[in-house]
Amino acid sequence: MPPPSDDPLTLGQRLVAVLEGGQRVATYKLAVMVALLDLAVENVPEDPDAPVSINLDTLADRVMEGYWRQLRPLDGHDLRQSNDGRGVVFTQITRLREAVTSPRSREVPLDTAALLAPDVYADARLTIKKNLVRYPLKLLQRVGSGSYDCFLYDDSWLGTDSTRVIDAHGNSIELFPGVCHTLARLAPLVKPAFQLAWVEDVRRMNKNLLDDGPDLAHHLFGSDRISLTRPGIALADTFGNACFYCDTTLRSGRHVDHVLPWSRVGIDGLTNLVLSCPACNSSKSDILPATDLVTRALDRGRTTLDDLAESINWPSQFDRVRSAAHGLYLTQPPTTPVWLGAKSISPLGTVDIVWR
Ligand SMILES: [Zn+2]
Repeated sequence: MPPPSDDPLTLGQRLVAVLEGGQRVATYKLAVMVALLDLAVENVPEDPDAPVSINLDTLADRVMEGYWRQLRPLDGHDLRQSNDGRGVVFTQITRLREAVTSPRSREVPLDTAALLAPDVYADARLTIKKNLVRYPLKLLQRVGSGSYDCFLYDDSWLGTDSTRVIDAHGNSIELFPGVCHTLARLAPLVKPAFQLAWVEDVRRMNKNLLDDGPDLAHHLFGSDRISLTRPGIALADTFGNACFYCDTTLRSGRHVDHVLPWSRVGIDGLTNLVLSCPACNSSKSDILPATDLVTRALDRGRTTLDDLAESINWPSQFDRVRSAAHGLYLTQPPTTPVWLGAKSISPLGTVDIVWR
């Protein structure tokens, strides 16, 4: 039987133990853990004690998405994400990048890359999924040597790279009862800790390159890894060139804002993007918006958003935004500050929205 995992303190302590479990030779475990935290938020069940399946293709997608933004030169240097600078995940993502970008082209979201080079993408995802099942997912809960308890999911069948075995297990891992809900609650605290450890690992793995201290955290996790110019133009053409929040007409300094904050869920899909004036953008920052702002973003309409996204070869991610909103607000205490508009912040209160 798994240990009781719905106690946030116990689960949090175990996650910290994963972070501190000796020097890592690669950043895979951190990538998997951050992906699991994001997926927990997006899969929060109505019943907090329910077990939750995490699809392994989706997990591979999220790990790829994390590295996709990161594996780009910093000040002309390719950064290592492992001690020897090699690794299956990095090779695959580099291949995909070469298939869809020329040196002069802009960065595109991973979903766009998947559309442009579907075969290379499918290959990469399968290879990466098998690698995750074989190593980091198998090793994630193992802290120190000797026996250990699984506290997130049963890992006894992992460690294989057989697609037959993976498929026989439903192509998924199952988070123990209560774990998904608790991970989602802990995510705002724990995700930054994992990202910080990730930054320190990359700094250590690239000691020779990073002496002059570029902003590595920003390079790895900043929201501007992908240019949002194209969606910005599309949004202005369709919904008008005004601030989504305060309706001011936008002249210079048009911002493209992530409605659900980038730092919380990292969704670049068009459904999560709006135009914003500089004042609203900087005032909102990383604060959760009031729920009616999120419903208003969704009320622009799935068909409209999907069609618009398709016309610029951009992901829409309507379902993902809705699921993330559901999970974010359901797991926040009523005292959580939310942003209502410029210079206006109040406690969240009780949320009883059905996210349609
Ligand atoms: Zn505004």
